[in-house]
Amino acid sequence: MEFWANKMPEGMLLRSPRVASNLSDPDRAFTLEAYEASSKTEPRTPLPLDTFVKYGKWFRQLLGSGVDERMVLRVERDRPSFRLILRDGDEIRSACVVIATGIGPFKRKPAVFQRLSSQQAIHCYEGRDVRQFTGKRVVVIGAGQSALESAALLHEANAEVEVIARTPHLRWIGGHSWLHHMGPISSLLYSSHDVGPIGISRLVAYPRFVSHVPLRARDKIRTRAVRSAGAPWLIQRLSTVKITTGRSVTEAKAVGDEVVLKLDDGSERRVDRVLLGTGYQVDISRYDYLPQELTDDIEQFDGYPRLASGFRSSVPGLHFIGATAARSFGPLLYFVAGTESASRELVAHVSRNLRKY
Ligand SMILES: Cc1cc2nc3c(=O)[nH]c(=O)nc-3n(C[C@H](O)[C@H](O)[C@H](O)COP(=O)(O)OP(=O)(O)OC[C@H]3O[C@@H](n4cnc5c(N)ncnc54)[C@H](O)[C@@H]3O)c2cc1C
Repeated sequence: MEFWANKMPEGMLLRSPRVASNLSDPDRAFTLEAYEASSKTEPRTPLPLDTFVKYGKWFRQLLGSGVDERMVLRVERDRPSFRLILRDGDEIRSACVVIATGIGPFKRKPAVFQRLSSQQAIHCYEGRDVRQFTGKRVVVIGAGQSALESAALLHEANAEVEVIARTPHLRWIGGHSWLHHMGPISSLLYSSHDVGPIGISRLVAYPRFVSHVPLRARDKIRTRAVRSAGAPWLIQRLSTVKITTGRSVTEAKAVGDEVVLKLDDGSERRVDRVLLGTGYQVDISRYDYLPQELTDDIEQFDGYPRLASGFRSSVPGLHFIGATAARSFGPLLYFVAGTESASRELVAHVSRNLRKY
């Protein structure tokens, strides 16, 4: 739960529907609803981050025996198996390694902001404590959920906020909400995970099927399903926040304690902080525990590992799940809802092949 408990902003609401926020267990017994009933938590829509984190901890307490929390510093190939070196110096040998270490190292910091310090230009992934911005002038860069929700939370924490986005206008999810309320017809158009627009939503619910779609078409489906947009409940919360669309920052420099931003219309902003809602770029070479000689052996498409059935990479015994698997198995793998199909397929593959490892 590190991502949710330590990285996402306090007060955040999950964008995915409640039904798509169930952590997966084989019997589907430890659902969000089961947690709410057992802890007497009032079910809320959208789902508050705080409830989701508590649900994750409850889930782990009931199911997660045997989780070794030590940091892995290095994964080396030691044919035919792997050697893992842990932070405390211990070593573990394993025939099979599943990489599921999330998106933290993939934070995108556009070149124009590189010269600003990490206190001045903060990625949304590091923006958990919104109160650090109270009373400050903050520009939020981006037009996705991360940028827009952070802008709303900062505004509510009494920061002076402006959103700057390259897109000509902001997009909001749920423009055709009536299509979701037509009973069985809606189920034909959208899967319950609700990732992507009409039709695509149904397709991406089957990661195995998506993995057989030719790469170009698969990429189109993926980028369309997760294009930048905000949840509808942000529209009202942002109604008094300054939003500048169709503009990019061309220069960013620190002048004393201030950050001076130049925009492509020649205008200038002087602020205290820049919050980057500029997304993530999967690139497995940024997992610092994977040595270059290992990543060189992994077939890739632009930083994503090329995966076959069982989420296996081109290095025997090495598997990837989560966001890194989205280029091969589609956008559901970016979300909690993707865990069920990933875990079933992965476990089936590993158990079938145990003798071969
Ligand atoms: C702004 C934003 C909003 C989102 N909203 C939603 C949403 O509403 N619904 C949804 O389903 N998804 C959402 N997501 C996607 C979300 O990231 C994924 O759903 C999910 O949390 C990723 O889980 P994970 O297990 O792959 O990664 P993480 O939750 O990041 O887990 C990675 C784990 O690996 C561990 N780790 C890392 N490196 C090492 C190492 N070297 N050694 C040992 N352990 C290590 C970490 O400690 C951590 O426990 C959102 C993403 C963003 C950026």
